[in-house]
Amino acid sequence: MAKNIIVQPSPLGGRGVFASKSFSPGEELFTVSRPLLSSLDGIRLHDTCVNCLKWDGDATIGVQETPLESTLKACSGCKIFKYCRKECQREHWRLIHKVQCPFISKQKRYQDYPASVRGTMDLLLMIPNLQLPQKQAIGELLSHIEERSKGGEWETTQVLAVAACKFAKRPDNDAAFALSLYCKVMTNAITLVGKTLDPLGLCVDLFVSCINHSCDPNVFFVMDGQALSARCLKKIQEGDELSISYVEPTNPTMIRRKELKEKFFFDCKCPKCLNEGNTPEDRFQGDSSTDGPAKRVQDEAFNTLFSVRRGKVLPEKIISELKRALDLCQRSGFFSIERQPIPSICSDLYVELMMQDRHDESFEHVFKIYTETDPKWYPNFHPARLAHTYVLARLMKYFCFQPGREPQELRGHDLHLVYYGLLLEIESNLNKSHGPTHSFAKGVRAEINMLREELQRDAIVSIHRELPSIMTAFRGLKKQITR
Ligand SMILES: [Zn+2]
Ligand SMILES: [Zn+2]
Ligand SMILES: [Zn+2]
Repeated sequence: MAKNIIVQPSPLGGRGVFASKSFSPGEELFTVSRPLLSSLDGIRLHDTCVNCLKWDGDATIGVQETPLESTLKACSGCKIFKYCRKECQREHWRLIHKVQCPFISKQKRYQDYPASVRGTMDLLLMIPNLQLPQKQAIGELLSHIEERSKGGEWETTQVLAVAACKFAKRPDNDAAFALSLYCKVMTNAITLVGKTLDPLGLCVDLFVSCINHSCDPNVFFVMDGQALSARCLKKIQEGDELSISYVEPTNPTMIRRKELKEKFFFDCKCPKCLNEGNTPEDRFQGDSSTDGPAKRVQDEAFNTLFSVRRGKVLPEKIISELKRALDLCQRSGFFSIERQPIPSICSDLYVELMMQDRHDESFEHVFKIYTETDPKWYPNFHPARLAHTYVLARLMKYFCFQPGREPQELRGHDLHLVYYGLLLEIESNLNKSHGPTHSFAKGVRAEINMLREELQRDAIVSIHRELPSIMTAFRGLKKQITR
C-alpha cells in the first residue's frame, strides 16, 4: 500500500512494518485516508460528525467558542448519528450507514455501550460486503482469545460480544464469531483523536495493526478527520522496523510492562524495558531501592489516577482525588516534576478544572507541563507537545477576553503577546509535527494571521523585537509556579 514501507516477518515475532528507505524526524511515512473501522465514544455521538469527525471540542474542552452541535443534523432514520453537511451524510450512508441505520434505530441503549461493542457490530455488518483480501486480513488479526478467556474480565467480554451480535441481528450461532471479532477490536484498536489529541473513540486499520510496539517508538500518529498519518519521530534507517507505543511511554517500566501484559499479552523486550531501574522513567530522587517508600507512593498515586480514568471515582471527587495524589508525590520528595505520574495527573487535572470553568487553576497545571515536563520527554515537534502549547495559548486568549479572571501570577504580563508568541512557537514546528496541509496547521496559521492584524500591522516590527523578552519573562514564571 504505502510507498517505501513493507510488511514482513518481525524479529519480535509475527509480522512487522519496515522502512525500505531512510526517513528523517518529522517526515511523513504514510497516510491511511480512512481506517477500516472508526467508532465514536457514546458521549461524542451527540456533538461530533460521525463521517468527518468534526467536533466542537477541537479547540479543547473549556475554551470552545462556536459550538458545532447546533449545526449538526441527525439522521432522520436512526436519529443517533449526526452529520455536519449533506455530503458527509451521503458518504457515510454509502460506506456503512445504509446497512447500519435500520439496526441502530431499534436500539434504545445503543449509545450506552462502549465504542468497542458498537465497532464490533459495524464489523459484523460490513464483513459480507468486503473484498476477499480484507476478509482474509481480518481473519489474520490477533485476538488473544485464549489468554483473554483465562483473565478476570472474560465474563464481561462475553456479555459485550453477545450484545454486538444481537445489535447486528445475527443468529445465536454467530456468537463465537462475534466474540473473536470483539477480541480483535480490543487488541488492534488505537484511540481516535481530534486535532488537539482529545480522545473521540477508537479505530481499527488492517495495515496500521501490523505495526509493533516499542516503549521507545520511532513513529507517532496524527489524525485529521478520518485520515491517519504516521510520522517519523526519530531517524529511521532503511530496513528499520517501525514502532509505535501502545502505552504511555513515559510511565515507569513496571507500569508499562503490567499494562502491556494485561492488555496485549506480551513481555516487552525493548531496550528501555531491558534496562529497567536505570532509565529516567524509573529513577526516584533519594531512594534507589526498587521496593522502598518511593515505590509505595508511586503505587498509591497511580492507583488513584487509574481509578479516575476507569470511571471508578465519583465525578464530584475527581479533582480532590487527583490533587491528593499530586500532593502525595510532591511532598514525598522522591519525584522530580517530570516523573510519572505527576505529568499525567497534571494533564487530567487541567482538563477537569477547565470543564468546571476554573481556568485560573487550570493554568498552573498546563504551565507545568509546558515548561517542565514536555521539554524533557518530547522533541519540539512532538504533537503532544504542540497540543499542550495550544491549550496554553487558548488559555491566554481566554484571559485576554475575561480580564480579572487570570491567576495572580499573570498580572502585568501582556497576555495578548504571550498568546501570539505561543502560536508562533507552535507554527515553527507544524511542518514536522502535522505536515503543512493538516487542518490543525491551517487553523493555527489562520489564527496567527487574524491576531497579527489585531496587533496592528505597523506595530508588528517592534512586537517581534519585544517578543523574545516577553516570552522569557512568561517562562520565568516557572520559578514562582512550580517550586
Ligand atoms: Zn462532517
Ligand atoms: Zn441513521
Ligand atoms: Zn518496553
